[in-house]
Amino acid sequence: MSSGEFSLIDRFFRPGTVARPDVVVGIGDDAAVLRVPDGHELVVSVDTLNEGVHFTADVAPGALGHKTLAVSLSDLAAMGAEPAWALLAVSLPTLDEAWIAAFMAGFSRLAGEHRVALVGGDTTRGPLALTVQIHGFVPFGRALRRDGAHPGDHVYVTGTLGDAALALRQRSSGRVGGGDVLARRLDRPTPRLLVGRALRGLASAAIDVSDGLIGDLAHILAASGVGARIDVDRIPRSAPFVEATAGWPVEEALSLALTGGDDYELCFTVPPDRLSDLDRVAADWDAPIRRIGRIVDGEGVTCRWRDGTSFEPAGTSFDHFASASRRPG
Ligand code: ADP
Ligand code: MG
Repeated sequence: MSSGEFSLIDRFFRPGTVARPDVVVGIGDDAAVLRVPDGHELVVSVDTLNEGVHFTADVAPGALGHKTLAVSLSDLAAMGAEPAWALLAVSLPTLDEAWIAAFMAGFSRLAGEHRVALVGGDTTRGPLALTVQIHGFVPFGRALRRDGAHPGDHVYVTGTLGDAALALRQRSSGRVGGGDVLARRLDRPTPRLLVGRALRGLASAAIDVSDGLIGDLAHILAASGVGARIDVDRIPRSAPFVEATAGWPVEEALSLALTGGDDYELCFTVPPDRLSDLDRVAADWDAPIRRIGRIVDGEGVTCRWRDGTSFEPAGTSFDHFASASRRPG
């Protein structure tokens, strides 16, 4: 490593952290030393964003800094965990100081909001790639998992679906509509951390919607050994989404909401005898929740209209290594 790398760390990465009493050793040593509170389990996840796959070169660096951390925080939200520490590995093609400063401004702002300390990382030269390892904790045995859904449980989703996918489609086709709201949903997603934590002991299973509802719900179903029936009339769509897709065939807009990625909402299941408890606490949440279907015996997701006729969404959720990749996600 060069002195340039060290000054980069001192100037841009070290200031991007918040002080936490559970950080014994942070940036600057060979490794961080961290203290997990008594009675808690460590919850860890790592995610990479690659230029050309997850974002294009023209994305504002501040938005990228936000999103790099937000996608990791969303994983902790889906586990019901409280975030604490992050490691940031950056591969940079050039030493563009203004770019790094703007990236870190976006990263640090979100980190500060959730009291996440940046406790280390790695800085290398190479194609632009950003990796965050996030650490959080849950009280012993209380993590939300994918494998707890049972037939009869109700399926819920937070917020609205399809906004980010619509923004991506608009951006790549040069079309606009829906104002800045849709673009913000794509560039600066909101991890549902409060909801995730509040779902501990209430939800039987949970996942964050990063690749599209149908595909992500399928992960819950596979892990739990069950199927689901989704009432497509109940899929929550934002006012800007409805406005921007007003001229589309209804099936096309609905398919986008069902399979589009990057929303970072939570999808979760709740046993019938916990619905009233859920309603009571959900009134205080910063994100609305909507009941969209039911867990059933069997496997896979079936979608139907209110009148009972079935609906087959066009397209599937994104898979990096599928033979026919549909779009980056
Ligand atoms: P080492 O060679 O021992 O891995 P490095 O030179 O890679 O040390 O890093 C020096 C210190 O700076 C370490 O504490 C490391 O965690 C931290 N660090 C390096 N890059 C970053 C980064 N992008 N963000 C936060 N901390 C970083
Ligand atoms: Mg290193």
